[in-house]
Amino acid sequence: MKVTVLGAAKEVGRSAFLITTNKTNVLLDYGVLIKREPNFPVHVRPKDIDAVVVTHAHLDHSGFVPSLFLSKDTKVQAIGTLPTFELSRLLLEDMIKISGFYLPFEFVDIMTMMNHSKILQYREPISIKNDLKITLHESGHILGGATVLAESNAKRIFYTGDINTRGTNLLRPADLDIGKIDLLIIESTYSQSEQTPREQSERDLVEFANEVIERGGTLFIPAFSVERAQEISCVLKNNNFNHKIVMDGMALKANEIMLRHPSFLRNPDMFKQAIGEAEWVRGWNRRKKVVKEPCAIISPAGMLVGGSAIFYLQEIAKDERNGIALVSYQANNTPGRILLERRVTMFNGKEKRCLADVKRFEFSAHNSRSELFEILDRIEGTPKVLTVHGDGSSCMRFAEEINEKYGFDARAPETGEVIEI
Ligand SMILES: [Zn+2]
Repeated sequence: MKVTVLGAAKEVGRSAFLITTNKTNVLLDYGVLIKREPNFPVHVRPKDIDAVVVTHAHLDHSGFVPSLFLSKDTKVQAIGTLPTFELSRLLLEDMIKISGFYLPFEFVDIMTMMNHSKILQYREPISIKNDLKITLHESGHILGGATVLAESNAKRIFYTGDINTRGTNLLRPADLDIGKIDLLIIESTYSQSEQTPREQSERDLVEFANEVIERGGTLFIPAFSVERAQEISCVLKNNNFNHKIVMDGMALKANEIMLRHPSFLRNPDMFKQAIGEAEWVRGWNRRKKVVKEPCAIISPAGMLVGGSAIFYLQEIAKDERNGIALVSYQANNTPGRILLERRVTMFNGKEKRCLADVKRFEFSAHNSRSELFEILDRIEGTPKVLTVHGDGSSCMRFAEEINEKYGFDARAPETGEVIEI
């Protein structure tokens, strides 16, 4: 088997790997790198591709998949779980609305992708041309998220995609029962930094939320619409936050999808209760009133780049009794990062001081450094290792450490590099 690295080499974004066997060409993920305009993975010809496996709905893994479906007669199969396709569709349609100008596909191509989808359960293998077997395992990262085991000619490749082995309020931990492997493709996002322990982040957030409301303020929590918004509402619920929780924006559409797939949740009853008790804001009348009430408002976008978050930020920033809890990653030059670093908001090019109290909390859906090493501790065999999906130094240093500690042949590949096993 051969793996060609088409993206996510020393970068976070546009994850894409091509597996080639005697008879097949199969992509693992085909994502975009979202900057001011999206960057794409290395080009492939759809007619050369048999299937694309989509590990999860985040656009850095799924965002360029529709480009493989520009022809209605295509033979490409899209493989993933049902929640992955439903959540991908939601995020892809939103991306077309925001950045459609830069994209080579349209809404209709997302439909073609959906029509060519092959829905798998976890641990239900699929054979491609009787030459390559693909099995999805639970990844613990977002609803429906999967890792991939690819087997051909007695060789086995394990691709972590984005992984969380500790589990969250919403999701069970990743399933690492995969046996002996010959090549490991592992994410490196936090390989060089330990995250705040989850329990502490939860305690700190709830304490801040209570503080803000008890002094007569409103708390605004900008959060990614898929997973983070729901996880935060469960965190508040499970830690005895006794005030109203309000959800808004695209998070509501994600709520509906997640409620349809209880078997993918760790505790469906708790989820149903937490999401059901929250107020779902629909319409401007209610939105304008809720910013003056003692409650926690959870709404995308997580980095404050769009959606109803813009309105909430503007209103909440006016009063020093209010609070803003940043619970998502804040990329450079986003309104969220600017707010965090300089306590200012930007509207129509004008800076305004933010009077509300701003705090940041770490709620990563990725493994932290020690948890990434726990994966390696549990690996059977002496695989080659590719460290991907991290910045340059995270990927390179992680590969060196794996080499020193386990003696595995580990490297941080370049884009376009071909690895044979
Ligand atoms: Zn992800």
